[in-house]
Amino acid sequence: MIGNWASENLQDVSLYFHVPFCSKKCPYCHFFVLPDKDFFKEQFLASIAQEWKLRLPQLIGKRIVSIYFGGGTPSRLSPQQLLSILGPVLNSGVEIDPNCEITLEANPEDASLSLLSDFRSLGVNRLSLGIQSLDDGQLHVLERQHSSQRGIDAIMAAERAGFNNISIDLMYDLPHQTLASWKSTLDRLKQLPITHLSLYNLTFEPHTGFFKRKKELTPHLPNDEQSLRLLQEAIEAIENAGLDRYEISAFARPGMHSRHNTGYWTARPFLGFGPSAFSYWEGKRFRNIAHLNRYAEALANGAFPIDFEERLAYPQSLYELLAVRIRLKEGVDMALFEKSHGTLPKEFVDRLQSLEERGWLKRAGEVCSLTDAGMLFYDSVATELI
Ligand code: SF4
Repeated sequence: MIGNWASENLQDVSLYFHVPFCSKKCPYCHFFVLPDKDFFKEQFLASIAQEWKLRLPQLIGKRIVSIYFGGGTPSRLSPQQLLSILGPVLNSGVEIDPNCEITLEANPEDASLSLLSDFRSLGVNRLSLGIQSLDDGQLHVLERQHSSQRGIDAIMAAERAGFNNISIDLMYDLPHQTLASWKSTLDRLKQLPITHLSLYNLTFEPHTGFFKRKKELTPHLPNDEQSLRLLQEAIEAIENAGLDRYEISAFARPGMHSRHNTGYWTARPFLGFGPSAFSYWEGKRFRNIAHLNRYAEALANGAFPIDFEERLAYPQSLYELLAVRIRLKEGVDMALFEKSHGTLPKEFVDRLQSLEERGWLKRAGEVCSLTDAGMLFYDSVATELI
């Protein structure tokens, strides 16, 4: 531990590392990614090392409770390259929680037993696999690099490599997706040794391949009624497989909630490293430059590589915190929330009341949470809250 901080006074924080390399850009992806080239990787790793040194003083008096390698595809790094990032963090002298969750995102096509075993031996204790679907037709539509069998093999390899915390991502609302094709994915969940699942619906984000083809793809998308059915089928199948819906899009076995993601929903401070990474620190949100050269250049000049920052003023800051936190099934203890973040204006309390009257929110004592309908129409709830 750096300095003379008593362990109980340390503030819990998280770290996020954005590893932007992918073997191919998926047509629906709006993240900052780069081709998997050695030249880019060397520049990236050198810059991350500089960024870590620059940020380290901010971690004095903190306890790191989760570390997340996202992307991009962090499994495109070799174990030695990953160690060049993780090693300095774990050996920095900053307090690391004994139960620190260390997650690495991996794509099935990279997930050999030997590679996963190496990542495990470095201290990575949670694997998040980009499975997306277990239907070959759907994987083809998404232009993914793996087959459904490769996806299953990756999950089994993760288990054999010693991971007892394995998360997968699944997507629905896809072009040409039918209830039958979706069920062929959902029916296999029960047999898989997964502990966590994140469920996403396809959205058409600007600057993606699918966005450019939106007109052509739209007639093949499920309509609203079909989309609702796909979601309901998913919730039922995932819960039948033993994973509880603890957040709108996240399911987990008991005790296996994502510690890192829970931090995002509960406003735990986090620092993001790497091009395009977001941070939330001391009430401020900021974003790193989404360009490798410019990101590297700023760091080479000893500057924080930030291109955007904002601090939301009261009471807007409270509205956003509440709108995000209420995504959790456990809801929000309003008395505790106001004690930690400040008093909610009467006008906002009236808005909560009106959402309750419409059947989107419910109250049990001090705890306010989404109803089933509120979970379904969360986007509308959030719009009203913010
Ligand atoms: S593998 Fe993931 S991060 Fe890379 S392009 Fe595809 S969706 Fe985006």
